[in-house]
Amino acid sequence: MILVHENLPEEASKIKKVVKEVFNIESILINANLDRFFIPIQEFNGYWSHPSEKGYELIVGLKNTVLIITPRDIYSDNKSKEDDFVFGHDESENNLMIVSTARMKRHDNQPSNSLEVPLDLYLKRIVYTSVHELGHSIVRADHYKEAIWVNARTGHQLKLGEHCTDNTCVMYEIVDIKAPPLSEGYMLLGEEKKFDTGMDESLKRLNQDWFCDICRKAFKIDNMYKQK
Ligand SMILES: [Zn+2]
Ligand SMILES: [Zn+2]
Repeated sequence: MILVHENLPEEASKIKKVVKEVFNIESILINANLDRFFIPIQEFNGYWSHPSEKGYELIVGLKNTVLIITPRDIYSDNKSKEDDFVFGHDESENNLMIVSTARMKRHDNQPSNSLEVPLDLYLKRIVYTSVHELGHSIVRADHYKEAIWVNARTGHQLKLGEHCTDNTCVMYEIVDIKAPPLSEGYMLLGEEKKFDTGMDESLKRLNQDWFCDICRKAFKIDNMYKQK
């Protein structure tokens, strides 16, 4: 696997170590400026979570699965700055996963350039999100349910893709750093409303093997992870 980071060497080496432990996958680290990879969303002072055309060309050229670690604030839609941001992006069909560190530096979910939580917690959040995004391309389980974030005040919905139903598994979906209060919103997982969707809470209850038994038994590591 190729791990491209935007001047985040400490974060990247931590991820490399865990990816080797969890999946037995080797990573090559590349430090790169990704100005041409990301498409700006001016009004949010952020970027689309999917890459530009040039970005896709770059990924295809690398002939490997690529995990990108960026400090840019990324969004999967441009309707609502407070609802449409994402911590990570999975495009496993294109062998591409992206993790944003922008909103992992504070006690709340706001984007920041400076670290306001302990380094250890910040790194845990990044590694957790990386394992989760890689899990989308590695776990071929069929018990997943569609997750949707619902803003209870506005009714705004954001589709989050298929996720595990076990909340101690890294493939359970989270929507925020701390689970939002009931009045703010909830996650629909299949038919069920979920309120246990904070990343920090998820880190505390996380299975020590990262994955639930069903997910772990469904690992399938594609050859695109093993190219040199
Ligand atoms: Zn996910
Ligand atoms: Zn699971």
